[in-house]
Amino acid sequence: MIKKILFTFLFSALIIKPDYAQNNDTTAIQNIYKEALRSDEATDNLRYLCKNIGHRLAGTIGSERAVEWVQTRLNEMNLDNVYLQDIMVRHWERGDKEYCYLKSDIFGKKELNICALGTSIGTGKEGLKGNVIEVKSFDELRMLGREKVEGKIVFFNNSTKQEFFNTFQAYGDAVGPRVTGAIEGAMLGAAGVMIRSVTLGISDFPHTGVMRYADSVKKIPAVALSTRDADYLSQCLKFDKELQVYFRTTCEEFPDKKSYNVIGEIKGSEFPDEIIVVSGHLDCWDLGEGAHDDGAGIVQAMDVLRIFKALDLKPMHTIRFIAFMDEEVAQRGGRKYAEIVKQKNEKHIAAIESDEGGAIPHGFSMESTDEQFKKISSYRGLLEQYGLFQYRQGGSAVDIYFLKDLGFPRIGLLCDSQRYFDFHHSGNDVFENVHPRELKLGSAALAALVYLIDKYGNQ
Ligand SMILES: [Zn+2]
Repeated sequence: MIKKILFTFLFSALIIKPDYAQNNDTTAIQNIYKEALRSDEATDNLRYLCKNIGHRLAGTIGSERAVEWVQTRLNEMNLDNVYLQDIMVRHWERGDKEYCYLKSDIFGKKELNICALGTSIGTGKEGLKGNVIEVKSFDELRMLGREKVEGKIVFFNNSTKQEFFNTFQAYGDAVGPRVTGAIEGAMLGAAGVMIRSVTLGISDFPHTGVMRYADSVKKIPAVALSTRDADYLSQCLKFDKELQVYFRTTCEEFPDKKSYNVIGEIKGSEFPDEIIVVSGHLDCWDLGEGAHDDGAGIVQAMDVLRIFKALDLKPMHTIRFIAFMDEEVAQRGGRKYAEIVKQKNEKHIAAIESDEGGAIPHGFSMESTDEQFKKISSYRGLLEQYGLFQYRQGGSAVDIYFLKDLGFPRIGLLCDSQRYFDFHHSGNDVFENVHPRELKLGSAALAALVYLIDKYGNQ
């Protein structure tokens, strides 16, 4: 009997390690998840942002209304500090809906779905008409040379490759012609550029995104073609090299305009001057509603403040929510924020951004020292039961990138990427395509991470 009691005692002493901190954290994180999933506020906020405000490209009326709305919402949350940070943003507008058709002696006339690329010049009201030269890469274009390209519309038909597991890699691999295709085409005398939309799906949605010009090279109009129409055009070109494409875009860039980052804070109880940033970007492209990119990130980061308030969690460090402006075009919001941090010599513990859409979160990607990476990865034990099992070093998010070299970790929320590019930068990025529970899991993941970094630091 004594032997048995002794055994039981020893056995329990061995397996039950009294780790109160761990137990408290388990409960706290459970409560964070309960609160995030119970409340509909993140979903309601996203619905409002998408349906009542709609698209909000920097410099447009939509972005002004979005700034006002976020500021109002933050004021209603009874925070310790709400303020705006002014910035000057580029102001480009799409103008009329684009129009495009192909005309062929063999195939007749067919309309094609296009959209202007962000910051492209327009064709003017008369439009642009020409023969088309199809290429799959810059190398192929250069091999053709001026003789074959001059006066034509260059059609970059490189597909976004299916073989990558993480579709952000597929995007990075395919996006080159969208960004600098107009420069490469114009250097060989092209009249315009069409790119195959950067997306893994086949659909009628054209996908926009920012493009660039070089000062020394003539500016030519650039548009994206839906993947279905890119396939069609490519097929037609196989049989009729003389077919013509016409397109008309009336997009235009106006002088820079004043806009804002919107900031709200819960002050730290012990270290009010030490900051944990949680953020998303408020601007979005003008074809859809910016639901995944990045309305989701905005309402999730706002929800972190709400969850802390609802659970009466008093952070030791200041939690600073930032709605960055102008991620999509020139990242003026992210740049300005970093500039001010350096000017004021503000101390940050971490900067977190959600900008991979509103799908199920899988973990975090970090730009950090090895010690910081080790520390943050050590939270896996508490978080993996919520599906947060991926802790990756390398890459975080665009707006917080500018905070590099300041010694604290920059962290991106890693979300399931398989469907993200079905929506990204297209008319398909609408509220209906974000699942409420998946969205809320993102809020919970951010809040749990903020809770742990606040409690245990960054290294
Ligand atoms: Zn984004």
